[in-house]
Amino acid sequence: MRALVYTRVSTAGQAEGFSLATQREACGKKARELGATEIIYLEDTYTGIELERPAMNKLREHVRARNVDLIVVYDPDRFSRNLNDLLIVTKEIDKAGITLQFVNFDWQNTPQGILFLQLRGAIAQFEHALIKERTTRGKRKKAAAGKIGGYAKPYGYKFNKESDELEIVPEEAEVVKKIFEWYTREQDPLSSYAIAKKLAAEGIPGPTGKGWFYSSILRMLKNETYTGIMKRKDEQPDWKPVRVPPIISRETWEKAQKRIEENRRFNPKRTRNEYLVQRLIYCGLCGRSLTVVNRTKGEKSWSYYTCPGRYPRKFGNQAEFTPCRLKAIRTTVLDDIIWQEISSRLRNPKIYITYLRKKKEAIVELPRRELRKAEKALKNTKAAVERANKAYFNGYINEVEYRKYIAEYTETEQYWRKEIARLKREIAERELALGEQRELHHYVQRLVASVDKLSFGKKQQIVRLLVKRLVIYPDLVEIRGHFHWVLAP
Ligand SMILES: [Zn+2]
Repeated sequence: MRALVYTRVSTAGQAEGFSLATQREACGKKARELGATEIIYLEDTYTGIELERPAMNKLREHVRARNVDLIVVYDPDRFSRNLNDLLIVTKEIDKAGITLQFVNFDWQNTPQGILFLQLRGAIAQFEHALIKERTTRGKRKKAAAGKIGGYAKPYGYKFNKESDELEIVPEEAEVVKKIFEWYTREQDPLSSYAIAKKLAAEGIPGPTGKGWFYSSILRMLKNETYTGIMKRKDEQPDWKPVRVPPIISRETWEKAQKRIEENRRFNPKRTRNEYLVQRLIYCGLCGRSLTVVNRTKGEKSWSYYTCPGRYPRKFGNQAEFTPCRLKAIRTTVLDDIIWQEISSRLRNPKIYITYLRKKKEAIVELPRRELRKAEKALKNTKAAVERANKAYFNGYINEVEYRKYIAEYTETEQYWRKEIARLKREIAERELALGEQRELHHYVQRLVASVDKLSFGKKQQIVRLLVKRLVIYPDLVEIRGHFHWVLAP
């Protein structure tokens, strides 16, 4: 196993007690403990404001190339003092499937670790949402004006850049007509699956040249654009409709929709990933993992989280079977309860703010206090020079004594001036870090505001990030994860 050890020392590093050698040794030891057979060492020297970090850049190259299996760092502060950078780099590492370990930082069991993980997850979600919003904004603007630029063109059409219009591709349009015909004909209609197979058998190239997926056939069958009005993603009622040359009649399209709906209702496998806490949920009585069971009655259907221990698996020995007593719970009911609980925590900016306040004191107050002391000392030294001047002027001390005093005071004065300049630099530097934290504060505020606008998919991602296990008892629900709490009715 290949490991990478990243170390960073500040120029005043020895004072902090984390010299390079200490860091290297501790990280190397940890890497070997975790099974590393080969270790790459990278080191940066921290000099004031962190703009240049050659070793960090190399680390990121290794990550991108997936050159290593493990990265060991002394603590997150070594990695980056800028929380944003830290989030970005750790995300890259995660994405590359590389394990990140800190020597002096417990991810799971310390408040800082938990907060970091929460922030990381929450901010990642939020950033994702922001990026998505930015890319869709341009499209929406065009779409509202009745233009089609930026939207995927459906199979059967090509995009004419000059006129910003869709034009029919005759060979493809023939295929579209066939698909609708096969699917809606009275005699022996074909399923989307059979259509995909048939098209492939006839040697017709698929939309991306790769073949035919039955799911893309289904998407085509649902696409209203073929009737002459282009339906855009996120279509708003006030958008100007886009007319395109039709390939099939509205009547045929509606017939196809009716068939799709009929088929859907009888397809038992249609509900994958539709439930918020699926796969996180366990029976508190027998420990089994709960499954989702659908029940249908006429047109309506309900789903329940159900303990599989309620039903016998084998038949023939039912006399020995003692069913689990845990009652099934409506998925919608439990999902709502859990989301209420989690979102109320995400909406609470307190945890973030407490963290920021703590950091703020540590970052700026200390050098400020020292600066005040240094400025007072400089003033005292100046006063002492004044006194020596007066004493010499009034003849209380002779020239030799006077020169001795002045030499000593000048040295002291120089020392304090240097010290003041250093502290001012230090404060400026730390204030910069604080500025970044203020940005984080903004982040948190916006994040809090966006909690209720999250899509189902994002909610699910957040739940999976924060909750490790949900245990259901007959009268209470226990939530285990980064938060731990118990809900009773
Ligand atoms: Zn059970």
